[in-house]
Amino acid sequence: MLKEQLNEVESRIQAACARAGRCREDVTLIAVSKTKPKEVLMEAYGLGVRIFGENKVQELTEKYEALPKDIHWHMIGHLQTNKVKYIVGKVELIHSVDSLKLAEAIEKEAAKKDTVVQVLVEVNVAEEESKFGIKVEEVLPFIQKIASYPHIHVCGLMTIAPFVKNPEDNRLIFKNLHKLSVDITGTNIDNVTMDVLSMGMTNDYEVAIEEGATMVRVGTGIFGARDYMISD
Ligand SMILES: *Cc1c(COP(=O)(O)O)cnc(C)c1O
Repeated sequence: MLKEQLNEVESRIQAACARAGRCREDVTLIAVSKTKPKEVLMEAYGLGVRIFGENKVQELTEKYEALPKDIHWHMIGHLQTNKVKYIVGKVELIHSVDSLKLAEAIEKEAAKKDTVVQVLVEVNVAEEESKFGIKVEEVLPFIQKIASYPHIHVCGLMTIAPFVKNPEDNRLIFKNLHKLSVDITGTNIDNVTMDVLSMGMTNDYEVAIEEGATMVRVGTGIFGARDYMISD
């Protein structure tokens, strides 16, 4: 079942790339494995998956310790400053930087470990009250501030679009995030690149790819529905 679902996601990504005139290699699939047991991740690993996304620090570090070392881990969930120390040096990319306080904590920990942490700035494009992320108009000043942190490299932007029945309803959100990244690129800030646009989940990753996503975060589409009773 996992194999079929993974194949299905892969062919949909290819089709979306083709529709948009983009190369398949320009879109990275992140297998969102939160709440799934290690055996299931290992099954995906056996099928060639090497990039996993998790949203909780403890779950991520447990899986990190237990699973093969050639896995690339992405932290996609809200991150508390006091937990930064557990993931710096273990994750390839933090998708969810949404406050100066968090950026400062990452800078401090990365300096201590003599490493540079790759991050995305989470943007609340839809301006949903319930969501984390920085408002569109505050993103540029925020990035200008954290650009001076020597142990952080801002590589792009991330957004979580609302859950909608029709994925077309999120097209404008993806367009707006893309536009924001183009605008920021135009300001030429030192130590900041806008190569990564992390947007699109199971429900809407094809639309996100058509609008320029370079990373899509797919959980349910690969692993099936999550059982929150077990993990939360
Ligand atoms: C859970 C999660 C996903 C994956 O969601 P699906 O709808 O299962 O694909 C993507 N991004 C973030 C930030 C998540 O927390």
